[in-house]
Amino acid sequence: MMLYLSIFLLLIALVLFWQSGRQQKKAGLPGGRVVYSDTRSWGKVEKPLYDRELQLTGKPDYLVEKNGVVLPVEVKSGRAPGAPYDSHIYQVAAYCLLVERTYGKRPPYGLLHYANRDFAIEYTRELETALLELLTDMRRDEYRSQVGRSHEQAARCRGCGYRHVCDQQVG
Ligand code: SF4
Repeated sequence: MMLYLSIFLLLIALVLFWQSGRQQKKAGLPGGRVVYSDTRSWGKVEKPLYDRELQLTGKPDYLVEKNGVVLPVEVKSGRAPGAPYDSHIYQVAAYCLLVERTYGKRPPYGLLHYANRDFAIEYTRELETALLELLTDMRRDEYRSQVGRSHEQAARCRGCGYRHVCDQQVG
């Protein structure tokens, strides 16, 4: 079971990365709002959140309670880009979905914490729909032996952690 989940998470990371550019155009993802966060109230997450219906699991770095609602926090070690990457936005959205299904209250947003800046990612209905569509696409692609590259950006491939196993890299 754990092997299955690990593979599934790897697939999530890979497909999120591939699909993000295409999905953003389609979904009009929220860009992220710069916020100040008091990290002292953040609580470590002991075990992964899991949703049986979607067969989705994930472990946010922290959870924080604000005004009676639990918010997920994802920590990235690097400095913040001008705007959050699409894949990071989807990751936060997936945690928001898992938080809602686990605690029964919909988080209005999740937090993306970079080394120098924090963003609030609004968990809108549009973002949730885009995430669910992405998960559906992933399930379909999971059974295909070939999944096409969704971009023509050599720079993106140069910085990609899957470059050594990918046969579709540009450049
Ligand atoms: S190397 Fe390029 S095409 Fe392959 S997974 Fe990475 S970004 Fe996508």
